[in-house]
Amino acid sequence: MRNKTRTKRKLEDLDRYIAPCKYCNQDVSSQQSFVALVKSLNPISYNYAHYDCMKADDERRHNGTERSSNQTTSG
Ligand SMILES: [Zn+2]
Repeated sequence: MRNKTRTKRKLEDLDRYIAPCKYCNQDVSSQQSFVALVKSLNPISYNYAHYDCMKADDERRHNGTERSSNQTTSG
């Protein structure tokens, strides 16, 4: 019995599943840009989310509560 592997999996092609997105509940994979949000400190645990989802949520919050324009841009 020969076990021939016809298609070699490249490391770049590996889509590594990380966790469900906190916002949209879809899979977050290492190939996408994602963020880790601290869920609890003791024990330390994280929520994972797509970067875009996190940004969208952030923007929504800022729109809801209109603060005085804070012009702190860094980066
Ligand atoms: Zn998402």
